Amino acid sequence: MRWTVVGASTIAAEYMIPAFRAQPGGEVRRLVSSSVRRGRDYAARHAIPHADTDLATALADPQTDAVYISTTNEQHHGQAMAAIAAGKHVLCEKPLAMTVADAAEMVRAARAVGVTFATNHHLRCSGSHRAIRALIASGRIGRVLSMRLFHAVHLPPHLRGWRIDNPAAGGGVIPDITVHDADTVRFLLNEDPISVVAGMSASGMGQGVEDSAMSVWQMQSGAMVQSHESFTHPFAGSGLEVHGTEGSIFAPGVMTQKPQGRVELVRALGREEIAFPATALYTTGTAEFIAATRGEGRPAATGEDGVKSLAIALAIREAATSGQRQTITFPDL
Ligand code: NDP
Repeated sequence: MRWTVVGASTIAAEYMIPAFRAQPGGEVRRLVSSSVRRGRDYAARHAIPHADTDLATALADPQTDAVYISTTNEQHHGQAMAAIAAGKHVLCEKPLAMTVADAAEMVRAARAVGVTFATNHHLRCSGSHRAIRALIASGRIGRVLSMRLFHAVHLPPHLRGWRIDNPAAGGGVIPDITVHDADTVRFLLNEDPISVVAGMSASGMGQGVEDSAMSVWQMQSGAMVQSHESFTHPFAGSGLEVHGTEGSIFAPGVMTQKPQGRVELVRALGREEIAFPATALYTTGTAEFIAATRGEGRPAATGEDGVKSLAIALAIREAATSGQRQTITFPDL
């Protein structure tokens, strides 16, 4: 797969460019940046042969097959629509767009053109998450009663730019982290939420955007979910718990970019450590995306999944802003 990377971003440098190159025949051919100098420096640092400031120029290259978009959030929609129109497969960062309508438009456009369109919700590719999903699906904990998700991190200094002070670029912890948690809940429980209540605050880092959020969700099955995200918690750690009528799953340290953490199943018979493969999350997601472009299976998180995670995250923000319970609706896709 020959890639164009749109966005001289941290995530592309730290995880995605290595993940693309880890695939058989994986090649990163072009980099698109809004800045000539940043683009050239970044391309040189990462040995990418071409740096463009004009997206159309990059998209006109017939020797690229796929586009990875990791610019700031408000740019995803326009860039994805252009890449789809150019007939490229698109792996787009979360949140897919600033509005659910825009995200839905991206999914519909990709379907109309016949290209693969996926959302980079990496946690679906974690061995721990896949093990938890399998435990739940096999009935080992009985009927799910509740899930608790804790994802309050301490945002590292090099990621504190637009995320903490620029609402127009899609800043705030809800589009940044809650959107991942929304996808995680859907993936693990295999159902959608129907309503949410929520609160949010700026607890020391956010300027004009929320840096902390808590929400309580009602799921279709009647199960409840409690979710906590933040940029300001140095020592909270991450993880999740799923509690059922026959058992509980405890998974500390699993809401990460690396294959870390533990999974423990607790039932009447006792405690059991659940083994899972330590596969690299982004490499796995990239491999599944490439397979999907060949008609083999689906991407780990589809465009439809990205529309739903965005709809849930925006409903949580609206619930926190209004103080009112929000009913969650999804567009027809
Ligand atoms: P960055 O802040 O690193 O990059 C975003 C944009 O900022 C770049 O496209 C670049 O613009 C611009 N930029 C980069 N460096 C500078 C600089 N020194 N001065 C001014 N502008 C600069 O973003 P992230 O990598 O943290 O996030 C990018 C996207 O990826 C977001 O949508 C985010 O939500 C998502 N993300 C997803 C993750 C996941 O696990 N799925 C993890 C982290 C982020 P230009 O391209 O024009 O040069």
